[in-house]
Amino acid sequence: MTQEIGGFAALELHPNIVAAVVATGYEEPSAIQQQSIPIILAGHDMIGQAQTGTGKTAAFALPILHRIDPSKREPQALILAPTRELALQVATAFETYAKQMPGVTVVAVYGGAPMGPQLKAIRNGAQIVVATPGRLCDHLRRDEKVLTTVNHLVLDEADEMLKLGFMDDLEVIFKAMPETRQTVLFSATLPQSIRAIAERHLRDPKHVKIQSKTQTVTAIEQAHLLVHADQKTSAVLSLLEVEDFDALIMFVRTKQATLDLASALEAKGYKAAALNGDIAQNQRERVIESLKDGRLDIVVATDVAARGLDVPRITHVFNVDMPYDPESYVHRIGRTGRAGREGRALLLVTPRERRMLQVIERVTGQKVAEVRLPDAQAVLDARIKKLTNSLSPLVGDAESTHGDLLDRLTADIGCSPRALAAALLRKATNGQALTLAAIEKERPLVPNNAPRGDRPERSGDRPDRGDRERRAPIPLAEGRARCRTALGARDGIAAKNLLGAILNEGGLAREAIGRIQVRDSFSLVELPEDGLERLLTKLKDTRVAGKQLKLRRYRED
Ligand code: ADP
Ligand code: MG
Repeated sequence: MTQEIGGFAALELHPNIVAAVVATGYEEPSAIQQQSIPIILAGHDMIGQAQTGTGKTAAFALPILHRIDPSKREPQALILAPTRELALQVATAFETYAKQMPGVTVVAVYGGAPMGPQLKAIRNGAQIVVATPGRLCDHLRRDEKVLTTVNHLVLDEADEMLKLGFMDDLEVIFKAMPETRQTVLFSATLPQSIRAIAERHLRDPKHVKIQSKTQTVTAIEQAHLLVHADQKTSAVLSLLEVEDFDALIMFVRTKQATLDLASALEAKGYKAAALNGDIAQNQRERVIESLKDGRLDIVVATDVAARGLDVPRITHVFNVDMPYDPESYVHRIGRTGRAGREGRALLLVTPRERRMLQVIERVTGQKVAEVRLPDAQAVLDARIKKLTNSLSPLVGDAESTHGDLLDRLTADIGCSPRALAAALLRKATNGQALTLAAIEKERPLVPNNAPRGDRPERSGDRPDRGDRERRAPIPLAEGRARCRTALGARDGIAAKNLLGAILNEGGLAREAIGRIQVRDSFSLVELPEDGLERLLTKLKDTRVAGKQLKLRRYRED
């Protein structure tokens, strides 16, 4: 579905920027990006107002990357952010979007780290400087000329910067920059103090406001759960244990996340598939058909890919990643509760996204109740209920058909009927944990209580691991194919184990094997395209760390 790429391509950004964005897995610009990018590209000053999580970073980073001159080795853009964590997050985002722009360097300038190397990086020609105001002022005291070449300034989270008392520092920084610069200000709220800054320091700014219309949602029971980004997969798995669902759709933000989550679900035995903009139309239709007729129970989708999806069987929507705006939240959860049925919608919220939750509540006019992760007792009850439901129809007249056999076997074995029934149960449940103690042991990762969200500068604003783990794949070398196994770091796998197993069992030369990337829940290995099917067959029964490798070609479509 290449037309999705058109979303970013239509913005007239440099093709290398668009390519990096697409490689990151973004399928289309968010509303704030759609509206801000052309304005910033045209060189206007701008005030952008939008909630957290709406994609503001790319809204300024992409056009600014477009406007700098990589051949000039001097600071050209300054981005001010309120905290060290946010500054690092923005710097990382710039690096991601600039991946295909050789010569572009980014430096993050913040307190708590030595000043020398930061200043040196600026003098060495970093074009993009991302800084907290306090530390930048320290630098200005040492060298008042550091900012004289900067002609783009972005104030990110301006309201937060003022709350943290950076007003005076901002004034110092404004003075150290050319007056002809372009200034862009982003803020979730626009109090009088911010308007005053804009009045004094922005020239004829254009306003962009992502406004939320009121929407109504009926017949859908909504709840949210607070989690840290790196706990999302385990939270989803726990929730699935206790939610009584028929079919379920999960929403995530990137293509890679659809693949990762779908394979984590498959690994747990769920009938799950990914749906994203890369998936060909006929394959997409097959997935939807399978969801309709029960061959699949869970689809993990991006917003774009789920467009127009209408499957009456869907009883649940999980918003694993936050939607960009309340409208798309309403749109997403509208996938359930079809045809007058009851639906249930769950939203995972990381600490820094709580403001977005409030906006959703305001816009939908409904309270989205908080739920906790199920505890071991709830998981046990749910498992036993499922077991009861699956066994009870089997009882029937079994005693009359197999009762005598039972008598004979217990006599032959010399055990009680209870002992034999227990043995059969153990076999039938296939090692599943069915006592409290066993379940507690099985779930070390899932905390019982929500994260403490009142420390946004620490836990909340840390660049979330989910995103880093969803880094776009590096392009493959000629003649190589990328293969995937569901074994990862969490299974105790390291790259050298995979390498060893493939070398031994596959009889390949070391040079034939390319990059090996071990992620938490899966790994990727680059193998020669030539003879790949034969190799994979050869490796069919290979075990690593006691588990079946099950290597497959990655993204076969
Ligand atoms: P804000 O600054 O408005 O709070 P961010 O810029 O931090 O929001 O973006 C929030 C998340 O959304 C990030 O993880 C980012 O990678 C992701 N994101 C941003 N734009 C897009 C897009 N167009 N498609 C998919 N994901 C996006
Ligand atoms: Mg931001």
